[in-house]
Amino acid sequence: MKWYGLNARELPWRSTKNPYHIWICEIVLQQTRVEQGKNHYLNFVQRFPDVKSLAEANIDEVLLYWKGLGYYSRAINLHTAAKQVMTDFGGDFPKHFDEILKLKGVGKYTAAAVASICFDEKIPAIDGNFYRVLSRIFADDFDVSSSKAYQYFYNLAMMIMPEENFGDFNQAIMDIGSEVCKPKNPNCGICPVQENCLAFGLGKVQNFPVKSKKVKPQGLKLKYYHILYKEYFLIKQRDDSFIWKRLYDFPEEIPSELETFITEEKTINHKLTHKNLEISIAKVSIDDKAIFEEFARKNQFIITDFEKSHQKSFPKPLENFLKKEFEGF
Ligand code: SF4
Repeated sequence: MKWYGLNARELPWRSTKNPYHIWICEIVLQQTRVEQGKNHYLNFVQRFPDVKSLAEANIDEVLLYWKGLGYYSRAINLHTAAKQVMTDFGGDFPKHFDEILKLKGVGKYTAAAVASICFDEKIPAIDGNFYRVLSRIFADDFDVSSSKAYQYFYNLAMMIMPEENFGDFNQAIMDIGSEVCKPKNPNCGICPVQENCLAFGLGKVQNFPVKSKKVKPQGLKLKYYHILYKEYFLIKQRDDSFIWKRLYDFPEEIPSELETFITEEKTINHKLTHKNLEISIAKVSIDDKAIFEEFARKNQFIITDFEKSHQKSFPKPLENFLKKEFEGF
């Protein structure tokens, strides 16, 4: 705690105890590095400064403000949760861990971070950093990939938590985990808990944490048609099922008469957390405006161009594909 008092990283959300802001920043940081997330967080809370403004916003605009962060389901969940706060909590952000946990997309770690930082609730915010730091300090070989790990480390944390400033305790562990006790090269030389760290004392830092299960990514193939007439092309919005909910992508099927217009095919490999995607994109260059427009109308596809497509959010691999296709336009 002393070390945190002197070394806390200066981050834009550290100067506030506003639960809405802390919640947004925790969700931004779930799969994004601090440096990359900082500006996105600032832009997001500037445009949507409170729960009400987020709940009332159009989802397309929310997704647009999420552009560049990836994992868009986080933004969709934020939007849903903001509406939940308005309807279920009368617009007041919930104040207890159990209530915060009810919000869409909020897990135990985020609920604990918000409850401890904003409402000084005594509850540890347990994530991968937390498992790593505690299992090293205690040289504890409890398997962190086991379903019982959360409860085990929860109990351990409750024993060492101070009597007050629970939010600072959680943030201190977060900072030690990300700045000092890193997964591969922990900087034990400057670590504030080195004297009490059993793994360090035993010279076995790299043996912890113990993780037995590794999730093997599944392979998945996707097929798209990039259908063009001059610089115009067709897009559609994905539904709420499966990956990339509510983002925009390309048509996935074409009638056989359009197959004669296929000029080339590209394959893109893209990794999601638990999926390896193989995306093939066939370019269909139609030279007849009437055929192009009729196909779009019949299937309710949207006609757009590169410039206008910036107003929509695409999955990362398709965004990169479009950038390459229209380079120099
Ligand atoms: Fe991590 Fe090393 Fe500090 Fe132990 S001494 S907590 S292993 S950085």
